[in-house]
Amino acid sequence: MERQSRIRTLVLLLAIGILLAPVLAGCATQFVGPGGPVRGQARNIILMVGDGMGPSHFGAAWLYSNRILGKELRMVEVMKSGRTAYVVNDTADAIVTESAAAATQIACGVKVAAQVVGMGPDGKTPCKTILETAREKGMATGLVTTSGITDATPAAFAAHVEHRSDEASVAAQELQLGVDVLFGGRKQFFLPESTGGKRKDGRDLIEEAHKAGYVVVGTASELKQATGGKILGLFNMGNMAYEIDRAKTAEPSLAEMTVKTLEVLAQNPKGFFAMIEGGRIDHAAHQNDAAGTIRDVLAFDEAVGVALEFQRWDPDTLLIVTADHETGGMALIGHSKKHVGMDLFAIQKVQSSLERILEALGKNPTSENVRDVVEKHTAIGITEEEARLAANDALHTLASVLQPYLGVGWASQGHTASPLFAFGSGPGSEDLVGFRHNTELFRIMKTALEAGR
Ligand SMILES: [Zn+2]
Repeated sequence: MERQSRIRTLVLLLAIGILLAPVLAGCATQFVGPGGPVRGQARNIILMVGDGMGPSHFGAAWLYSNRILGKELRMVEVMKSGRTAYVVNDTADAIVTESAAAATQIACGVKVAAQVVGMGPDGKTPCKTILETAREKGMATGLVTTSGITDATPAAFAAHVEHRSDEASVAAQELQLGVDVLFGGRKQFFLPESTGGKRKDGRDLIEEAHKAGYVVVGTASELKQATGGKILGLFNMGNMAYEIDRAKTAEPSLAEMTVKTLEVLAQNPKGFFAMIEGGRIDHAAHQNDAAGTIRDVLAFDEAVGVALEFQRWDPDTLLIVTADHETGGMALIGHSKKHVGMDLFAIQKVQSSLERILEALGKNPTSENVRDVVEKHTAIGITEEEARLAANDALHTLASVLQPYLGVGWASQGHTASPLFAFGSGPGSEDLVGFRHNTELFRIMKTALEAGR
C-alpha cells in the first residue's frame, strides 16, 4: 500500500513537471540557474532616448497632454507599470555633458570625454557598444532619430570617431556594420559633393547601400510601403522637421518610424536591439522654443507608446526610456502674462517653430513685419517695443520676447547638469531603480541581453 502511494505521488509530480515545463521555458523573467535566480533575460531591447529631455520638459509635456489634449502620457504608463531610476550623467572631463559623450557612456558603459563617438576613455580606442554586442549574437539592430542618423546619439552605438563632427565617417561606418534599420535625417553625409552632398571622398553611400541589399526610402509613404530585412530611410538633407512643422512635409513621424523599425527587426528569431531617439527635443530647447519643445516631447511619447504596445505583444522585451542630458535649463515658472504658471492655451495656439518664424521674418524685417509674422504663427500680439527688439536681433531675442506670454523660463541656451530619469519595464528592468549613473544603463542592457543566451 505504502509503495503504491509513493508511486502515485511520483507519477503526479512527473505530470506536474511535464505540464509546467513549457510555462517555465517561456518565463523569461525568473528562472533558476546554478547560482540562484537569474533575472532579466530579454530577447529584445528597445532603448528610447529623448535628447535633451530633462524633468521639466517631461513635466511640461505631461501638463499639456493632460490639460489640453485630455490624455495621459504613454511614458507615465511605462513608469506606472515598470520601474524608475534617478540618473546622473557626468563625463570623464566635465560636469555638463553633450550628446556624444552621453550616448557613448550609455552605449559602452565607461566614462569618456566630450565629443567622442564610440571611443573609450583614451578618446581613440573604439569601445564595444551594446549594439555591436547584439549584432555579434545574431540579433537584428536598428537606429532611429528625428535628428541626423549621423548625429552623435545614433552614431555612438554603431560608429567610432574621435570627434562627433566627422559625420561622413559615421555614415560609412553605420552601413559597413550593417545596421538593419537606419532612419533619420542628414542625407547630405551619404552623398558626394557632386550631387549636393557633403562627402569629400566622392562616395555615394546610397548607391552602396542599394548594392548591400538595403531598401532605401525618403518619404513617409515610401516608408510605409517598404518591406525587407534592411531599410535605410533618409528623410531630409539636414535634420528632420520639428514636429510642430512636420505636417507641411512628407516626413514620417517618430512613431511611424518606430512602427516600421519594430516590424522589420522583430522578424529576426534571435531578437533585436533598437535605439530610438527624439532628437529634436534638444534642438528646440537650445532655441528656448517652448511650444516646439513640448510638441517634440509629445511626438517622442507617441513613439514610446508604440514600443509599449510592442512589448505587450512580445513581453520578452526590455524597454528603457531615458534622456542623455537636459537642455536649456527649462523652468516651469510661476507666472505668465495672463496666467499663474505656464499658459497652456497660448502654447496650444503656436503653430510653428521659432526657427520657422525666423525664416518667415527674413533679413532686416521692420517692426511691423515682426508683429504680423509673430501673430500669424503664434496668435500672440507683441508690443511695438518688443517687435523693435526682435527685429534688431535674432532667435534668442524673439524667444525671450515670447517667454512672458508662454510662461516657460530658460536658464541657458546650452546643456545643463540637471539629473534625469530612466524608466522602463520588462525583463532586465529590475535594476532600473534607485540612483544610477548613465554608464550603468549599459550594464543593465548587457545583463538582459546575455542572461540565458
Ligand atoms: Zn544639444
